[in-house]
Amino acid sequence: MSASLPSQEPFVLAVPSRGRLSDGTLELLRRAGLHAPRQPRRLLADVNAHWRLLFVRARDVPEYVATGTADAGITGLDCVEESGHAPELRVLLKLGFGRCRLSVAVPRLKGISSVEALRGKRVATAFPRLTERFFEAQRVAVEMVPLTGSTEVAPHVGAADAVVDLVETGSTLRQHGLVELATVLESEAVLVARAGPRALRLNDKAQQLEELRLALQSVLDAQARRYLMVNVPRAKLDEAKKLLPGVTAPTVLDLLGRADWVALHAVVDEQELNGLLPALKRLGAQGLLVLPIERMIP
Ligand code: AMP
Repeated sequence: MSASLPSQEPFVLAVPSRGRLSDGTLELLRRAGLHAPRQPRRLLADVNAHWRLLFVRARDVPEYVATGTADAGITGLDCVEESGHAPELRVLLKLGFGRCRLSVAVPRLKGISSVEALRGKRVATAFPRLTERFFEAQRVAVEMVPLTGSTEVAPHVGAADAVVDLVETGSTLRQHGLVELATVLESEAVLVARAGPRALRLNDKAQQLEELRLALQSVLDAQARRYLMVNVPRAKLDEAKKLLPGVTAPTVLDLLGRADWVALHAVVDEQELNGLLPALKRLGAQGLLVLPIERMIP
């Protein structure tokens, strides 16, 4: 990307160096054309003259972006909201991976069935800001037990009555005999940049940020779609076209030496494929091919 920009400082994108969001981030960037070779313990990687990746902990990404060390970042929404920099940051795009929720959970056998019932109780969490804000909004005063990780063990050892922790499937909570009471925040990986007076504006970097957002968006749009190629009897063309919307409309191509057949090409939702393929078969379609799409710009 950005081969045509005049020479300037590279655009710095802060990304998780390790942990749950690291692989997904690098894979998404690779698909968007920003390929950084893998090297353990690296801090910086120049993709080309215009793009530099800054590898930091997911929870530190908001700090680096807010203070201007990085021009933008990719991290979990939970990290942005917990960071204390949320008002200075703007979420530009939700990236569809790293999905989880920050939940209030309690020991299954303690008979606590509402947030109300936690009044005056101890809540262990590595997310003190979000937790405090949540209980304040519920008008339930609790005693905070700030921890940096493994909060789910706190109720077991008598250090807390409840936890506020990230949950993906709920299996870790279940293993520890905990059940969810309420959701504090739904999270996923996001692209963030500075908001307000310190936002990138009307300069080459603002242009690069928009370029990055569009590139990521095009990959996300393509992920949910497939390119379908199929041969159908010309007599069934109208019926087949009704089944295939395409981006604007399906492409219709002649088949060499077969005037009674046409080839149809269309972009389809992956979720619709299972119903679509047998419906096309019923029309007498042949030679169905389903291909992945790298990028999609409507
Ligand atoms: P890390 O601590 O570096 O592994 O990154 C943790 C980040 O991954 C969190 O801040 C979330 O945004 C995301 N995440 C997604 N699913 C989970 C989960 N089940 N537990 C913890 N973090 C998760």
